[in-house]
Amino acid sequence: MTMQAKREIADLSEWDDARIMLEKAAADGVETVWDRLDKQKHCTFCEQGLTCQKCVMGPCRIVADGAKKKNGVCGADADLTVARNFGRFIAAGAASHSDHGRDLLEVLAEVGAGTAPDYRVRDEGKLKRICSELGLSVEGVDAAGMARKLADHLYSDYGFRREALSFCSRAPEARLELWRALGVTPRGIDREPVEMLHRTHMGVDCDPASICLHSARTALADGWGGSMIGTELSDILFGTPKPARSSVNLGVLKADHVNILVHGHSPIVSEMVLAAARDPEMLAGAKALGAAGINVAGLCCTGNELLMRQGVPMAGNHLMTELALVTGAVEMVVADYQCIMPSLTTVASCYHTIFVGTSDKARFPGGLHVSFHPSNAREKARELVAKAVEAFSRRDQERVLIPGKPMEIMTGFSNEAILDVLGGSLDPLLDALKAGDVRGLAGIVGCNNPKLKHDYVHVNLARELIRRDVLVVVTGCATVAMGKAGLLMPEGADMAGPGLSKVCRALNIPPVLHVGSCVDNSRILQLAAMAATALGVDISQLPVVASAPEWYSEKAAAIGLYAVASGIQTHLGLAPNILGSKTVTELATAGLTDLFGACFVVEPDPFKAAELLDAHVAAKRSGLGLSA
Ligand code: SF4
Ligand code: SF4
Repeated sequence: MTMQAKREIADLSEWDDARIMLEKAAADGVETVWDRLDKQKHCTFCEQGLTCQKCVMGPCRIVADGAKKKNGVCGADADLTVARNFGRFIAAGAASHSDHGRDLLEVLAEVGAGTAPDYRVRDEGKLKRICSELGLSVEGVDAAGMARKLADHLYSDYGFRREALSFCSRAPEARLELWRALGVTPRGIDREPVEMLHRTHMGVDCDPASICLHSARTALADGWGGSMIGTELSDILFGTPKPARSSVNLGVLKADHVNILVHGHSPIVSEMVLAAARDPEMLAGAKALGAAGINVAGLCCTGNELLMRQGVPMAGNHLMTELALVTGAVEMVVADYQCIMPSLTTVASCYHTIFVGTSDKARFPGGLHVSFHPSNAREKARELVAKAVEAFSRRDQERVLIPGKPMEIMTGFSNEAILDVLGGSLDPLLDALKAGDVRGLAGIVGCNNPKLKHDYVHVNLARELIRRDVLVVVTGCATVAMGKAGLLMPEGADMAGPGLSKVCRALNIPPVLHVGSCVDNSRILQLAAMAATALGVDISQLPVVASAPEWYSEKAAAIGLYAVASGIQTHLGLAPNILGSKTVTELATAGLTDLFGACFVVEPDPFKAAELLDAHVAAKRSGLGLSA
């Protein structure tokens, strides 16, 4: 067993707002994620992926080799056990993104059928473009008709399509050919994770390499399927993001307002809550109780969704979710699903905060549950906002502490917006790449993990990369870190190298571009595919890298693997639980290069990680005949 050493508050987070709230949490008797980590004794078998619970002949603990070598009761050795565990980990991550995408698809279908009166198509141009891209004939068809056609078409991507998912057509031909040759072209968004569960049942696929290849296929079904559908349909239903200003950190909470936090991943609920909070009747109710207004702010990825499209401020990322409630200034948390710590209902109960779950897939004992459906969304959102307003009268102002001032940020860099900034084509970016002003592109994505100092790896890696003229795009919880560090403002160009700084100043853009939520990593895939196609090369030949510096979740592992399987070298700040198998570890950190032209790099130190990613960028530039 390994035990986390107790750390000082100063070592837990990069930020003052977090540290001040950690002091307050201790004073208020609130237990946080860091306290619980300190109490954990992690099993070394589990950390190495060497435990198996797949049947009741076990559970088994496997010892890889040496005098004490021990296989599972069925005979599974370390390589097979690690591969099976990792395969299921990826399947869960891919399924989570893909089920999120399915919810958007259901809303689109209901909009088409006229049974979701509170939703509408907000970007008809994009709906039409995507219909045409997928070969659907929509000449003279109205928005509802196009919504029906597209929904019908994409529903079949969730089932068995035999050849390839619809959006795979966006990948360069060389990549498609490679996937075909390896037998990993994703065929069905639901099929690949289901097949993974089947393969990893006792006595099915006993070849670790074969399971790992199917892990890649499962992850690709997420990136080029479920996640891409989630992104594209969110744009169609709620608007394609455009550059806008907003702000981040706990300072976005307002002491004199009703504060509502939206938490989770899907814009389906949070967009409705925002609309209800802007309703004059609700505002009048808030004012009647002495509040100056109603303030909606975001947490995690549903926060990213509202930030990208509506400029709604972000109160915090994953490790700030409990601490946001410790301010004592939050009337309500409205949650949908994913990354919502079960502890939040307990933290909420220490204050006057109402915690509300809204998805029937995600129940939170101790919280209120209000089922949101496309047919009742506006009415339910209004009910919730009215309750939040009422809760304002129960707030104990003596217990309120909102630390710091909001940091201003720029957001909204969808691929459409990036093309717009560039004047309609990627050429200016590709020219800057060829000239060496922008040496490469790095996607920094993902979560926080209390095992690492909160946001330390994110911001230091980004600073080091932009200093080396690598343009960074960011999604998910890493976004808040970048915002707090001043990297999401055009003035952040002062921290960039001379070439990148020149490009940022010319275009009036930050050196780190916010491109969305976790599902929006699909935007990065599409951007890389567009660049590769324009240059007539494969994605793996581009000076493009990815990093999930502080990742924690199954979803993040799926993202990392679809990036690698798409040809993008990917850094992880922490290793997945695979180190118990030499074969799987070597495959992940080296062997995948022979298959996909990219592999994983694990390095917790952001400065060393920057060196490794920079070396990869330099090598790819040389491969294209460009100065390193
Ligand atoms: S599948 Fe094999 S290794 Fe896993 S628990 Fe059952 S007997 Fe043990
Ligand atoms: S970035 Fe990670 S922690 Fe944050 S919302 Fe996404 S999956 Fe959850």
